[in-house]
Amino acid sequence: MERNFYSIQDGPMSTYQEIVEREQQFLLGTYARYPLALQRGKGVYLFDFEGNKYLDMLSGLGVNALGHAHPRIVKVIRDQAAKVIHLSNLYYNEYQGLLAEKLCKLSGLQRAFFSNSGTEAIEGALKLVRAAGHDRGGEAKSKVVALDGSFHGRTLGALSLTGQPKYRKNFDPLPGAVQFIDRNDIEQLNAAVSDETCAIVIEPIQGEGGIRPASVEFLKAAREAATRHNAALIFDEIQCGMGRTGTMFAFQYFGVKPDVVCLAKPIAAGLPLGAFLVTEELGAAMSAGKHGTTFGGGPLASRVALEYFAILEEEHRLEQVQRVGAYFTAELQNLVDKFEIAVEQRGVGMIQALELSVPAKGFVEGAIAEGVLWNVTQENVIRFLPPFLTEEKHIDKGIKTLKKLLKATQKEAKAAKKAESAVAAQ
Ligand code: PLP
Repeated sequence: MERNFYSIQDGPMSTYQEIVEREQQFLLGTYARYPLALQRGKGVYLFDFEGNKYLDMLSGLGVNALGHAHPRIVKVIRDQAAKVIHLSNLYYNEYQGLLAEKLCKLSGLQRAFFSNSGTEAIEGALKLVRAAGHDRGGEAKSKVVALDGSFHGRTLGALSLTGQPKYRKNFDPLPGAVQFIDRNDIEQLNAAVSDETCAIVIEPIQGEGGIRPASVEFLKAAREAATRHNAALIFDEIQCGMGRTGTMFAFQYFGVKPDVVCLAKPIAAGLPLGAFLVTEELGAAMSAGKHGTTFGGGPLASRVALEYFAILEEEHRLEQVQRVGAYFTAELQNLVDKFEIAVEQRGVGMIQALELSVPAKGFVEGAIAEGVLWNVTQENVIRFLPPFLTEEKHIDKGIKTLKKLLKATQKEAKAAKKAESAVAAQ
């Protein structure tokens, strides 16, 4: 295709400017993008339109766990696209059942439903626990307990569980009776859960909330409270699951089993696919016609997801996540020990964070200039969701970049403090 290197109104401009200007004119303004347009990727690297290379330590917000342009994924997409991309859920396809079997065997849960995104996995799981609640205790059994600081998606049901005012603002009233409690507060948990609770919803590691893991004691208490009150324990593993903790499911890392687990992001290696898995008993609350989707579990996404799991196993990527993740943790901890403004390392494997005592936005733009990509949550938390292909040498590049930025920012912060005290002393 001939590219138009001209501004919509004015004269010649760069490809980057052209892309930005067009988006600004025609897209709904929902995204505050970083000043970078990317054209292609290979392994753990992305490339912009000038051919500059960037180490990807964010994996498309947790999606590209196998990096970019993995040859096996490319091959399987080509092959399947030439056969059939989409078949409606009116018919059987070759791969949906195989993928359900794979996920059920990996998780020890018994039934799967496929959606197209994380938020839809949450919506489906919410409908399921509502239906099960109705069966168990009538309409009254429809209350949900969720956590402050959580993030479960942007659709109205998922938003109703999201315990962060910045995402909810402007959209009230949200559906459902949801009670929010503090993460890791067992007393609040036990006070909130009752016989009217149909579900407790927890991210084992809060992602958007700033990479904040739940404690094992809290997860165990949630398991017990759910069982005691005949409610479902839902884990949202959309960000922290599918290998990021070094185990296939985050719940396997924590050793506490939910009744429902929600998945998305990496499972189809970049194609849109979400899922929730559920016990046989809870799954019985759903029957034909109660839930569905046009695209979910189509043959292309399902086959690619099967390839994703085959690659994880055959290339021993979970072992790599454990090994390189431990190295990453230690290196981040060194930064905390060395720099005053580096407050805390959090997370495990390929889901980690460095909390700063200062705003972290400059650390994203500074890193882009150094050829490294990560992002920021909660203003002062640098978040890392690297691909599982990441090796120690890539971590070294990231740490070197962090060190440079920490040094410069700490120097600036100290100079500003000195100037402030000089003014105060006058
Ligand atoms: N749940 C969690 C924990 C997430 O991190 C996200 C997305 O970041 C979602 C749900 C929503 O997923 P999606 O953006 O695919 O709708």
